[in-house]
Amino acid sequence: MSSVPRLTKPEGREAELFRDLRNGRIQCTACARACQIGEGQVGFCGIRGVVGRRLYLLDYGRIMAAQIDPIEKKPVVHYRPGSKVFSIATSGCSWACRFCQNYDISQRRQASGIQKTPEELVATAAEYGCEGVAYTYNQPSVFIEYARDVGKIARSRGLFNIFVSNGFDTPEAVAMMKEFLDCITVDFKGSGETDFVRRYISIPDAQAIFQTLLDLKQKTDVHIEITDLIVPAVGDSLEAAEKLSRWVYDNLGPDTPIHFLRFHPDYKMMDSPSTPIETLERHVAIGRKTGLNYVYIGNVPGHPDESTYCPGCKAVLIKRYGYEILEYNLDGKSRCRRCGYRTSIVGPLSKSFSEDRFVSVTD
Ligand code: SF4
Repeated sequence: MSSVPRLTKPEGREAELFRDLRNGRIQCTACARACQIGEGQVGFCGIRGVVGRRLYLLDYGRIMAAQIDPIEKKPVVHYRPGSKVFSIATSGCSWACRFCQNYDISQRRQASGIQKTPEELVATAAEYGCEGVAYTYNQPSVFIEYARDVGKIARSRGLFNIFVSNGFDTPEAVAMMKEFLDCITVDFKGSGETDFVRRYISIPDAQAIFQTLLDLKQKTDVHIEITDLIVPAVGDSLEAAEKLSRWVYDNLGPDTPIHFLRFHPDYKMMDSPSTPIETLERHVAIGRKTGLNYVYIGNVPGHPDESTYCPGCKAVLIKRYGYEILEYNLDGKSRCRRCGYRTSIVGPLSKSFSEDRFVSVTD
């Protein structure tokens, strides 16, 4: 947290997630870092700051990035497959990952970007034919009041809302998510091992992530997917992946999708190699061994474990290449067309696909 006062007047919009500690400091409750912020100072993320004993979301409506993506890119593969989403980000983040692929956005610890009201943003998303809004590239809970305002309008226009999140959140943030969020993908790194997250992310441990997932599961209807970035040599422990998979199985259920993602060198870790594909395959095998029904490899286009297989008869349910859907073998109730197994996939398939573009069952 910055110790040098840098704010002299309110900027952005007053935040809602904070409490006055009555000791001259304000505690932000938007994320688990729980910054205690003095007058004129900003929190760790750089975009929430105190003026006149009130907390302000300094970059309310300041958009750093906007792009149309397939939902599969998030990665989300069990919610509205094939949908086009309007991906947005502000600056700032609650984490400081040494391998961040979006560091020019997330590690910019100040308000920047083009001003867009929630109404303008949703209108743009709808104009481009997007079916949802994804809050992504930086941690969305740091700008949650803006996300909530966008999300409510998006919902009123028939669009869904997705967080691509580190899950390092609070009960207060989860309660706000409940107002508008439909889907979340929570991204572990190095399977959440304490040594790894301390050294490469700058958080004490992953406990808050597990608590957020429990709160989401128990108190909301938000669809949950899990990702785990496997970093070679320093964050690729099979024991850790097994521990995480077991936790997901026990607490979120066997139908929760989990994606083991390939690491690519970036930012301060340009000297690290990409994750070997065999390493990812060993992680997938561990995930399946724990009983999880949907275990994926991510960031390896063309790998067979990008596709979804029926837990009942093992037929290909959704065949993918990268973010593309090549086959879709589910009926309108997300059941396997071959054996009738009811999957956890939340449909329908995006309206941008015509039914007959996809051949049915692959034997
Ligand atoms: S959202 Fe920002 S200011 Fe608030 S606790 Fe997290 S890092 Fe600190």
